[in-house]
Amino acid sequence: DPRLQTISDAIRVIPHFPKTGIMFQDITTLLLDPVAFKHVVDIFVDRYKHMNISLVAGVEARGFIFGPPIALAIGAKFVPLRKPGKLPGRVISEDYELEYGNDRLEMSMEAVKTHERALVIDDLVATGGTLSASINLLGAEVVECACVVGLPKFKGECRLKGKPLYVLVEPS
Ligand code: 5GP
Repeated sequence: DPRLQTISDAIRVIPHFPKTGIMFQDITTLLLDPVAFKHVVDIFVDRYKHMNISLVAGVEARGFIFGPPIALAIGAKFVPLRKPGKLPGRVISEDYELEYGNDRLEMSMEAVKTHERALVIDDLVATGGTLSASINLLGAEVVECACVVGLPKFKGECRLKGKPLYVLVEPS
């Protein structure tokens, strides 16, 4: 698919951000390119429109950029998975490990009904820790996890409890 090269070319790599040694994949340049941004949404929508998905969950913050246009196009609800203390009302939470320390994701208790079929969206998967916490939090049947960028050396797929992972580009 020639669109994948356009997407890959639109992602900027920033060495040593936010820390020395990290090659940060910056998707904000992709957002500045409406052709590339639309290719991302179109590819995901084509893949998921006939999979009976009732819920798209997006991980704060960059899952909030890609999740909603996909949810609207496939006729699913959008559920934000947020950093701690941001959501009003009753929430359920899931702790997970980062490279240094811990973090937590929260979701509104009313967000998921029984028999939902969920898709989890984020911009990038590295270790899979964030997606793994998202799967636990949702409790619903997670049909697939989808990211714009995958970093294969971290083997994130192995942490997803057998749920499929779909990524568009893998930086070399
Ligand atoms: P994981 O939990 O799979 O180790 O890390 C994925 C999470 O970290 C995602 O929420 C993603 O947004 C963020 N992340 C880690 N590295 C990068 C990067 O190089 N670029 C971007 N855009 N996000 C990153």
